[in-house]
Amino acid sequence: MSATGAHILTDSFGRKHTYLRISLTEKCNLRCTYCMPQEGVPLTPSKHLMSAEEIFQMASLFVQEGVTKIRLTGGEPLVRKDFPELLQKLSSLPIKCTLTTNGVIIDRHLDLLKECEVTTINLSLDTLSADKFKKITFRNDFEKVYENLMLLLDHGFQVKINVVLMKGVNDDEIIDFLEFTKENPISVRFIEFMPFEGNAWNRTKTISYQHIMSVVKTHFGSETVLRLQDAPNDTTKNYKIRGFEGFFGIISTVTNPFCDSCNRLRLTANGQLKNCLFSDSESDLLTPFRAGEDIRPVIHNAVMKKHAMRGGLNRPEDFEDVTQHKNRSMIRIGG
Ligand code: SAM
Repeated sequence: MSATGAHILTDSFGRKHTYLRISLTEKCNLRCTYCMPQEGVPLTPSKHLMSAEEIFQMASLFVQEGVTKIRLTGGEPLVRKDFPELLQKLSSLPIKCTLTTNGVIIDRHLDLLKECEVTTINLSLDTLSADKFKKITFRNDFEKVYENLMLLLDHGFQVKINVVLMKGVNDDEIIDFLEFTKENPISVRFIEFMPFEGNAWNRTKTISYQHIMSVVKTHFGSETVLRLQDAPNDTTKNYKIRGFEGFFGIISTVTNPFCDSCNRLRLTANGQLKNCLFSDSESDLLTPFRAGEDIRPVIHNAVMKKHAMRGGLNRPEDFEDVTQHKNRSMIRIGG
């Protein structure tokens, strides 16, 4: 039972869902190749997007159903004009609130984040090269993001850097990123490139868990690579190089999934509940919510329908047929 007495959102495999990711917007100030289709995305008309009040009301309902952690994402959550008011409202809920951002404009919000007790920030940064940053994101914002990363550290935020590794793009930077953890108390997380609509994914572009470990151990020596205890429900296998300030981790959704302990649900900016990142079905919460209906049965139903693994893509080979698998682009899901 949750704090309020409601049944925690439990699926047919006994997994309890206490973590909600809310996408605040489909818009982004970067154009990352792995996330946004080259031709752009059809933006949902604003009247079909959740208002700040609707996000708050729905989040409150999820909290009543046992959610204890909410991550704000997008699109780029910070481009939403009413982000400050929204965060202030959400911070009144008894949750741990976190943020995933590309960091381009986060310097505008440091006081707000502190005031709202957001202490952990996931910052996406796929390269330590300004040129490559431009190639990946189609924007010239490397310096800005790098400065903001340093600013976050100076201000005492706990920062995790998300690096989507892609063969021939940034897989030559694994060691550079680890060297970056030598003096900086950050956690670098290497994420396997995942398939979504319009991101030209294929398996040959992914860098596996095994490959990363082999590169790291060859460079630093096996005995200096320390395996750390992972937090419950952690999607990351966490490590540290002996003597380094920071950490590194691997999120291997494709080659080594971690669905057994999944506790996540996702709410898109237009109010659709996804029970898995890879699920090809969604449950509309916004329409019944606006009609004044009780959406809790819809939420519970969606949770019960969750597949054992990756929205039913059980084998790595299932990803090969991604064109047959209907899913939104990542920018419209919320990572
Ligand atoms: N704009 C914010 C940002 O850049 O962090 C939040 C949204 S972004 C969709 C959230 C996360 O999804 C990012 O860390 C990004 O690296 C990850 N992501 C997006 N597309 C991905 C893909 N195809 N494979 C793996 N991770 C992906």
